[in-house]
Amino acid sequence: MTLRFRLTFWYTLLLAVVLLIFALGFQAVVARALYGEVDDMIQSQAERVVAVFEANIDPMRSRLPIPAIVFASQVFAQASTLQGTVIDKSPGMGDQMMPVPEEMRTRNLAGESGFYTWEGDGVTLRVFSTPVHSPEGQVVATVQVARSLDTIDSMLKIARLALLVGGSIAVALAAIGGALISRAALRPLNQIADTTSRIVRAEDLDQRIEGVYPDDEVGQLASTFNEMMGRLQDLFNTQQRLVADVSHELRTPLATIQGNVDLLQRGAAKDPAMLSEGLEAIGHEVARMTRLVRDLLLLAETDAGVRLTLKPVELDTLLLEVYREALLMADGRVKVRLGHEDQAQVQGDPDRLKQLLLNLVSNAIAYTPPGGLVTLSLHRRPDGWVRVNVADTGVGIASEDLPHIFDRFWRVDRARGRAAGSSGLGLSIAQSIAEAHGGSISVESKPGQGSTFEVLLPL
Ligand code: ADP
Repeated sequence: MTLRFRLTFWYTLLLAVVLLIFALGFQAVVARALYGEVDDMIQSQAERVVAVFEANIDPMRSRLPIPAIVFASQVFAQASTLQGTVIDKSPGMGDQMMPVPEEMRTRNLAGESGFYTWEGDGVTLRVFSTPVHSPEGQVVATVQVARSLDTIDSMLKIARLALLVGGSIAVALAAIGGALISRAALRPLNQIADTTSRIVRAEDLDQRIEGVYPDDEVGQLASTFNEMMGRLQDLFNTQQRLVADVSHELRTPLATIQGNVDLLQRGAAKDPAMLSEGLEAIGHEVARMTRLVRDLLLLAETDAGVRLTLKPVELDTLLLEVYREALLMADGRVKVRLGHEDQAQVQGDPDRLKQLLLNLVSNAIAYTPPGGLVTLSLHRRPDGWVRVNVADTGVGIASEDLPHIFDRFWRVDRARGRAAGSSGLGLSIAQSIAEAHGGSISVESKPGQGSTFEVLLPL
C-alpha cells in the first residue's frame, strides 16, 4: 500500500467519522428542541382546557367547552370519562379518537398528568393527558391534548437526508482533494526514489534531484540528499584517485625490481659487480615501497582516528628532540637553528606530533640548498593556541602550487621527487595529524626565498 493511499484513506476516514458524529449530534439536539416545544405547547393548551372545564359547575352533564377554544392546526383535544369513553372532542379530529393507555388512565385517576406518543393509522400524535377535578377536588374526567408529529418527523427526515448527501459529497471531495494534495506533497519523495534507483542501476554518482522545492521537510530532504550525493562523490573520487596514485607509485619500483631480476637471470648474476649492483637497486626499491606502504598506513590510521593515544605533551621538549634529529639529518649541509621557544603543553599523541614536525623539518632540509637555514620556533598565543613554525631559506613554492602541496602524492617536480625517494605523502600526513588534534597547518612561501610552515594546536 502506498504512503499516498494510506494518507488519503486515513484522512478521509477521519473526516467521515467526524462528520457522522457531528450529524448525529446535530440531529439529536434539533429533535430534542422540536419535540420539547411540542410538549410545552400541548401541555399549556391542556391546562387552558382544564381551567375552562373546571369552571363549569357540572362537567358531566354540560357540553364540554372544547369547541370554544381555537386550536392551532394539527392540535387536537378530547375529554374522556374516567372509564375512557370520549365525551367531546375538537372539530379537527373528525371520526378519530385518541385512546388513552391503561397506565396513563391510572396515573390520571391518581391526579397526575403525563405525555405519551400514539401511532394511529398514518399519523403519529404526541399526547398530554391530564385529570379534571371537581370543586371538591375529586378527579371527574380527563382531558387529552395532542399534536401531530408528522411535520417534525418529515423535517427531521429531510435534515437527515441533507446531512447524508452533503456529508457524502464532502467526504468524496476530501478524498479527491487529499489524494491530489498528497500526490503533490510526495512528488519529491518519488523523485528521490527515482534518482536513487537510477544511481544504483547506472552506478552514476553524478545524478542529483532536479527541480526547486519549497523550504519544507521534503525540500530539506531533497537538498540534504543532494549534499550527501556530492559528499559521496567526493569521497568516491578521492578513493579512486588514491588507488590510481598508489598503483602508479608502486609501478615504478616494481618495474625497476623486475628489470634487475631479468638482468640477473640473463646471466648478470655471474658477474659479481653486476650482481651487487642489481641487488642494491632491488634493495633500494624495496625500501622505497616499504616507506610508501608505511606512510599510507599511517595516513589511513590518522584519517580513521585510530590509535590516537591522547596525553599531555610538553611541546617544547618535543621540539627540542626534533631539533636534535634535524641536526643529524642536515649533517652540516644546511644550518638548523632553534628560535623563540615558549613552554607549552597540549593534549595529543606524542609519536604522531613528532612525526608531523619531522615531516616538516625533513622537507625544509631537503628543499633548502647547502648553506641555507632552517629555523624552528614555538609561540604560546594568548588566545589558547600554540604555534609551531618551521621556516627555511630554500627554493620556496610557486603560488600556483601552494593550493596542492597538502594533496596526496602531489610533488612540485614529480619525476625528480620520485627519484629523490619522496612519496608526496609527507604533508598530507602532517595535515591529517594536525587536524586529528583539532589543529591546522598552513604555509607561506616565496619562490627562491624560502617557505614557512605554521602548525596551530589547541593548548
Ligand atoms: P614529499 O614526500 O615529496 O616531500 P610532501 O607532501 O612532504 O611530499 O611535499 C609535497 C611537495 O611540496 C614536495 O614535493 C615539494 O615540492 C613541496 N614542498 C614541501 N615542503 C617544501 C619546502 N619546505 N620548500 C619547498 N617545497 C616544499
